[in-house]
Amino acid sequence: DTIGDNFDRTVQSFGERDALVDRRSGRRWTYRELAADVDALALGLLGLGIGKGDRVGIWAPNCPEWTITQYATAKIGAILVNINPAYRSHELEYVLNQAGVRLVIAAEKFKTSDYAGMLAEVRPRCERLEHVVLIGGEAWDSLLDNGRRADAAALAGIGLSADDPINIQYTSGTTGFPKGATLSHHNILNNGFFVGELCGYTEADRICLPVPFYHCFGMVMGNLAATSHGACMVIPAPSFEPKATLAAVEAERCTSLYGVPTMFIAELAERDFDSYDLSSLRTGIMAGSPCPVEVMKQVIERMGMAEVSICYGMTETSPVSTQTRADDSIERRVSTVGRVGPHLEVKIVDPETGLTVPRGTAGELCTRGYSVMLGYWEEPDKTAQAIDAARWMHTGDLAVMDDEGYVNITGRIKDMVIRGGENIYPREIEEFLYSHPDILDAQVIGVPDERYGEELMVWVRMREGAAPLTAEAVREFCTGKLAHYKIPRYVHVVDEFPMTVTGKIRKVEMRRQAIDLLD
Ligand code: ATP
Ligand code: MG
Repeated sequence: DTIGDNFDRTVQSFGERDALVDRRSGRRWTYRELAADVDALALGLLGLGIGKGDRVGIWAPNCPEWTITQYATAKIGAILVNINPAYRSHELEYVLNQAGVRLVIAAEKFKTSDYAGMLAEVRPRCERLEHVVLIGGEAWDSLLDNGRRADAAALAGIGLSADDPINIQYTSGTTGFPKGATLSHHNILNNGFFVGELCGYTEADRICLPVPFYHCFGMVMGNLAATSHGACMVIPAPSFEPKATLAAVEAERCTSLYGVPTMFIAELAERDFDSYDLSSLRTGIMAGSPCPVEVMKQVIERMGMAEVSICYGMTETSPVSTQTRADDSIERRVSTVGRVGPHLEVKIVDPETGLTVPRGTAGELCTRGYSVMLGYWEEPDKTAQAIDAARWMHTGDLAVMDDEGYVNITGRIKDMVIRGGENIYPREIEEFLYSHPDILDAQVIGVPDERYGEELMVWVRMREGAAPLTAEAVREFCTGKLAHYKIPRYVHVVDEFPMTVTGKIRKVEMRRQAIDLLD
């Protein structure tokens, strides 16, 4: 299927049901209303001469127009280029030129981001950029008006194939500069569909999406999972706000809630958490970074998300490769990333030899199947480093698979600490530190050390009212519970961690700052 055909089928089956709710503006769309706006924008774009294979950028925080643009571009075969809402002009210019964007749809401004101003600034240096359309502005309105007057038959004869590239999605930039993964209809529509299938979605579901649309978590696991099952998408706020998220779940009777672990941690820590009625929640997804067992337990118990699922994946694989299912044992649902998804393969290899390791042994996780991206946009060398000749995507993640196929992510190869010859997985120490009553969040990194090569440092966020932890207190807490070489030597108390827009903790940045701290 193409994304457009799949969307149209949903409109036929569930036209009068809610499709999209925007809490900030109070606007809502049924599937039929959403389809009308999608088609108007699609026809408006065609009228401007934008068509199959052209790159259309979208640069905005979460908003209904983001979703409308997503489906409109898919219908005409234009390649949607997701631009990170946190970018500044230098990064914007890079992406517009790297992807050869002809038209960009952008919010005028949001918080400290003057999108219109930055676009005006870089425009003279972006030769292929012909049109800038500000959401809600004159150009946007006339694009839709023209589309409403155009002959809808123009959408029928475009000649799309499910294997066409349809989207360039950038990775989170957790470990370096974000990379643009080129994805087809086949890649992301199937992934969204199967994620939704394993969450048991039907047209009765209402999914609360505080995760960014610019990222695969929002646009594939959120939007495509919803539309391929006729479920409703609820946008609680343009960017993540814990209170707005909880309020949206209550007001819209959401059945599903998404987030990276840091989002769930923030929601659970809200002072008036207990005053929200979250009883409509049945399921949801936690993904994107290691999901602490303690947090999973609280999500199940205090948020009532009995069927919550953990997904593991990466932008380059559309994204999800493994997922827990509602009928997995509770123990596995909180402590693993589940089993391989339908029609996909996963193997764990020795990163040095490339040979598959025995079950129970850590190695690099590799994924193969319909979900593997076409490649990094116009970067054949980087693509060849990531995808081997047999089409296995090498993820850079360390994992262990048990006898029954359940996978545990032990960390990123780049984050593993080697201290005096011992391989240390920060994840294990972080999990242990979560059990400390005063610790809200803990992140462990390796810092250079003359004697051992690397030493461990932990950054902690304290719970409200708790006194900052000292290195001695941490040592005392860990002694007898963790092997001596896993006990962090340095402790640094912070209010926030350096983060990506997708809510991931940037350990690269922590390591950079740590070196200054130790000087
Ligand atoms: P970049 O590739 O730019 O450094 P990134 O890898 O964070 O950034 P994404 O594609 O957004 O970009 O994220 C994929 C990565 O997120 C995975 O490779 C993995 O390291 C991590 N991840 C995703 N889900 C999970 C999970 N459930 N548990 C642990 N880690 C996860
Ligand atoms: Mg990555």
